[in-house]
Amino acid sequence: MRDRYQRTIEYLRVSVTDRCNLRCRYCMPEEGIKRMRHEEILTFDEITAVVRALAKLGVHKVRLTGGEPLVRRDITDLVAMIHAVPGIDTVAMTTNAVLLADKAEALKRNGLTHVNISVDSLNGETFADIARSDAAAEVRRGIEAAQSAGLRVKLNCVPLRGVNEDEIIGLIDWSRQRGLPLRFIELMPIGCAAASGLKGIPSDELREMLSRHYGTLLPHLDRQNCAGPASYYDLPEGGVIGFIDAIEHPFCTSCNRVRLTANGFLKLCLHARDGLDLRPLLRSGVSGEDLEETIARAVRRKPERHHFGESGGDSRFMYQVGG
Ligand code: SAM
Ligand code: SF4
Repeated sequence: MRDRYQRTIEYLRVSVTDRCNLRCRYCMPEEGIKRMRHEEILTFDEITAVVRALAKLGVHKVRLTGGEPLVRRDITDLVAMIHAVPGIDTVAMTTNAVLLADKAEALKRNGLTHVNISVDSLNGETFADIARSDAAAEVRRGIEAAQSAGLRVKLNCVPLRGVNEDEIIGLIDWSRQRGLPLRFIELMPIGCAAASGLKGIPSDELREMLSRHYGTLLPHLDRQNCAGPASYYDLPEGGVIGFIDAIEHPFCTSCNRVRLTANGFLKLCLHARDGLDLRPLLRSGVSGEDLEETIARAVRRKPERHHFGESGGDSRFMYQVGG
């Protein structure tokens, strides 16, 4: 379906939990987290009902995120349920990969196609500094398992000034040796990111630095596995890197997605308050048709652009939204 700005909405991101086994400093505070109550969190049947309604409206891709999606019990069952919805051709996941080694095979078997893995550093100390837990070895095992299982893997890294800055070249070389596209996500001023004291590295600066190191970055033309808000480049020596320039070059004009939080709020934009609380509706025994109509009406209201740093912004943290 199209929204009022003629953008085609074809992609749903579902946060399946606000729990996480890491505490990345830019995403989740170490303590004092107000967790959703168990009964607030949508069941797999409720999530699937929303997916079914959106699939009828033209959504064909679903990404599971969190919090950390792999800490949700029986997540492989949800993958199978979404995979079985008519019209859904892609079931993807964004994960920190700490628990992926044991689950990659079952996820693939149940219909998962793509996995984006967050890896800000492969160095134990830096990883622990960012994520407040030394799980770098598990993440590496998770990446290997995902590749062996036949999942299409991409890596995500948030470049941070003076923290993982000197590991960026190493991370790129490690990724391209394994045939994995690596994307750099600009630090967004969401939730605790601003108060964390961390500073992001702007994508423009990173591109310049990488051109000096590798030579001219050539726009990557194969869009099949490289769609979405990132701009991709081929490195002269081989390998693909991408940049998500959230702040300087907002991705809003080509935005194709809506989001569902773990407690059932349909978010129309990553960083705007506007949306629709679907949980009461889902728990009132709404029919599939009425759900579809209500969602369609909401999606048409999708805001034109995000509100980073402005008063219209959402106060939710990233772990409550799913990125
Ligand atoms: N736990 C999973 C993971 O880390 O991949 C999924 C959820 S996490 C919220 C999704 C993505 O959001 C991760 O790639 C993470 O690096 C990114 N993220 C979290 N907070 C961010 C921030 N303030 N700015 C930019 N990216 C952020
Ligand atoms: Fe957890 Fe992902 Fe947030 Fe890190 S970025 S704290 S892994 S939800």
